[in-house]
Parts: sequence; structure tokens; C-alpha cells
Amino acid sequence: MKIVIIGASHGGIAAAMSLCKLTSKNEVYLIDKKPLHALGYISSGVNLHFQNIIQELTEVTTDVQPLIDLGVNILTERQVMDIDPKNHKLFLEYEDQEEIFSYDKLILAMGSSPTAVNTIIDAENVFTYKGLEESQYVLDSLEKAQQIVIFGAGYIGLELANVLAATGREIHLIDNMPMILSRYFDSDMIEEVQDSLNVQGIHFYPNEFLIDYQAVDNKVNKVCLLSKTIEADTVIFPSQAQPNTGFLRDKVALNEDDTVIVNDYLQTSEQDIYAIGDIVPITYSKTAHVFMPLVTRAVHMARAAALSLIGHAIPFDRENKVSATKIMDYFLGSVGVTEEEAPFLDMDVSSIQTEVCLTPTYIAQQKIAKVKLIYQKDTMEIIGAQLVSKEHLLQDLNLLSALIQHKTTILDLAVENFCFVPQYTPLFHYLNELAFQVLQQTSD
Ligand SMILES: Cc1cc2nc3c(=O)[nH]c(=O)nc-3n(C[C@H](O)[C@H](O)[C@H](O)COP(=O)(O)OP(=O)(O)OC[C@H]3O[C@@H](n4cnc5c(N)ncnc54)[C@H](O)[C@@H]3O)c2cc1C
Repeated sequence: MKIVIIGASHGGIAAAMSLCKLTSKNEVYLIDKKPLHALGYISSGVNLHFQNIIQELTEVTTDVQPLIDLGVNILTERQVMDIDPKNHKLFLEYEDQEEIFSYDKLILAMGSSPTAVNTIIDAENVFTYKGLEESQYVLDSLEKAQQIVIFGAGYIGLELANVLAATGREIHLIDNMPMILSRYFDSDMIEEVQDSLNVQGIHFYPNEFLIDYQAVDNKVNKVCLLSKTIEADTVIFPSQAQPNTGFLRDKVALNEDDTVIVNDYLQTSEQDIYAIGDIVPITYSKTAHVFMPLVTRAVHMARAAALSLIGHAIPFDRENKVSATKIMDYFLGSVGVTEEEAPFLDMDVSSIQTEVCLTPTYIAQQKIAKVKLIYQKDTMEIIGAQLVSKEHLLQDLNLLSALIQHKTTILDLAVENFCFVPQYTPLFHYLNELAFQVLQQTSD
């Protein structure tokens, strides 16, 4: 079988790798418009550079030699311009020539691109970035800048603000929402972190909008918000992105935001065409959907699609979104639905939020976390959770992600059998206790 993958980034590479590791029976082709050296770039390379984890951005591209060794045919600098699902054909542009390519099965992994900033401000010190090349321009500009303005306090904007502030630069972070990370955390969980931003030297402007700017020699030097004008050496718009699905219109079914509609097995409206990664939205109850670019989703969809393609059909949980970061000393983790977004998804939810002690009372060095569980009112199924702590709780977040994916209820969690180790843990895990507290409240 000839399997063709469009897009050789995190999703496409994981799909090709999984397919070839599972069986050598197929011919696998990976096509990308980028050059070989820029494939699979980790988009937070700029942050890793300012944190001194890497020196050169090229250190976080993907070495595709293992794929080549497995027999994957990688075709770079070729842009797919169109597809013909009925005849199983692709139309590529390569060095200004058109090439026609056939497939038996197609995996769409074209990802997303930042929205063009020149429609917002057309100036040479205003950036958005994702790939290696744009990231290098941003890095060059940021290294010379002292006053940096970042629009959007989602993960990308906040993480960039955090690493740049640690280098002594003056950072202005602007968002039109009242809280940072508002797509992932409820206000009651994130306000402490938000209040600490100014200690780190990050000026945060909530509920704000860009209304004008001033420029000299095609370089912005001031941005004007509703309430304030700020001086700027470099301006970053990290948060606007759109799915790269232009050539799919009228070929496979798309949502109104141009994300691709798939079934539980990641098949599009054409059964021989699968879609993975950023182009597939988080989908709730087959109706509501949310565009949410996350590497985690891309690589896990890739593996699920590869398994289904070779005959181990496995449904992919399209609701799951799990994400985490470290801002200042805080570990921040979120999975599933927030309490504040639930009404917009027609979900009737309750929640419990409290500070818990992670260590037994007899241990002098207490470890603390703020935890929130969100659950459906009628079934008590847990559908969201958030963790904020100065401890590193990634494994707890992964555990919560698995519990939510496997539709655990509050009742299940109260008696979930977690391990007791007297040097580290209280008799009951804090998640057991939290679930039990909900049952105490609802039993009265
Ligand atoms: C600055 C920044 C930081 C981020 N940090 C994180 C993070 O810390 N954690 C996290 O989970 N996510 C992060 N993300 C999101 C993450 O980068 C995406 O979710 C991820 O890249 C999606 O992978 P993908 O394989 O679906 O697509 P993409 O990485 O978008 O790749 C798509 C590929 O398809 C190719 N392509 C597109 N159209 C065509 C065509 N017509 N013909 C040929 N090739 C084509 C592109 O050249 C590209 O190589 C970040 C994003 C940004 C912008």
C-alpha cells in the first residue's frame, strides 16, 4: 500500500515513524514544502535559547536520518497545491513545475501557521513565528531589544515573557481577556500566578486592545492601547494561528473555521484520507469544536492513525487536551474543560478547588499544591482538572489526563487504589481525598 503524508512536522514525522516501525509492508512518502534541515522544528526554540538550554535553533529540528533508515521517502521543498480524492491524486509544485503523485491512503498533517502580522501592523520589528526561519529573525531582533511588547497571554506569549524577563528586559504583556492562560485555567486557579508577574518584571495589561501605533523608518516605536501608550523595540504577536487547509475546501468536509472534520478513527469525509495534528480541532460531543494547536495531540493522533491504517483500529479521544508549563517558580497544568468554558459547551458542571498537602503531616518540609476538579453535575464524570504548585507535578497531570480519558467519576476516584509510601505520601492520595470531599458535600 502506498501511504502519503502531507506535512513533515511533529504529526507527519510521528505518523511515518509509527507506520514503518509497525510494518515494512507499506511504501511511505513524507512531503513538505520546507527544506530538509528545517523539518520538525520545536517552536519554542527561542525560549530554549534564552534559557541557555540550546545555543543554536537548529539544535531543535528533527534529525530525519532514522526515518530514511526505516525506508521513508522524504520529498522536501514540494508544496501540495491540490488533491483529487476520487482519483487518489495529489498535485505538487516543485521548482515551479507541477508534479502529479498518486496514493492509496493519504494522511493530512499540514498543521497551522501564524496569521500574517502585516495585516495588523506592517513593520520590520513586528513578528509572529513558528518555523525555524521566522524564529531566527525573531531571535535576532529580541537579542537587540530592551522593551518588548507581546500581544496574547496564552502559553506562547507568557512563556516568552517569562524567559525574556529573566534576562532583565522590560516586558509588556497584553491580552484582551481579564486573566492570563484563560483558555486553560479558571480565574480562581491562576490569579496568584498573575499577581506575581510584576515581581518578575512583566507588566501585564488585561482587557486591553491595540488601537494604534507609531513607527519611524518602518519600525514601530510605540503601541497605543485603550488606556496607555507603550514604547517598543520589538513587538510579538504569538497567539494568532490558522489551519493550513486552504486546498482542502470542497475536497473533504471542513468546519467553518477551516479545521477538518474527522471520525473517531481520524478519517475525513473521504475514507482513504486521514487528518492529524493542528488541523483537527478538539471536538466535544460531536457538536462543539475548538481549534487548539498542541504537539501532544499531533503526535498521539499520528500514532492512532498509523495503528488504524495498518488494521489495529483504535478510536482517538478528540476531547482530550492536556498542557503544562513552568512560569517563574510555578508548575501549571491543565487538562480537559475549565469551569468557565463549560457553559459555552452546554455542559452543566460542578467543581471542587482547594489547597492540598502532598506530604504526610509528620514530614517537616511540607509540599503544597492548588488543585481543581471539574465534573459533570448529573453523572459526576470528571471532565477537567487543574494543578498549580511550586512542586513539579507533571506525572500527576498525566494521571489526571488518563483518568479523564477513561471517563472516571468522582465516586471511582474516591476509591482509586493509589500507592502508599510512608517516606513520601499520606495514607490517601490527595486526589482520593478531593473526590471524597465532593461525596461528603453531596451526601448531606
Ligand atoms: C511559538 C510556538 C511555541 C509552541 N510551543 C508549544 C509547546 O510548548 N507545546 C505544545 O504542545 N505546542 C506548542 N506549540 C504548538 C505546536 O507547535 C503545534 O501544535 C505543532 O507544531 C503541530 O504539529 P503538526 O505536525 O500538526 O503541524 P505543524 O508543526 O504546523 O507542521 C505542518 C507541516 O506541514 C507543512 N505543510 C503545510 N502545508 C503544506 C503543503 N500544502 N504542502 C507541503 N507541506 C505543507 C509545513 O511546512 C509544516 O512543516 C507552539 C507553537 C508556536 C507557534
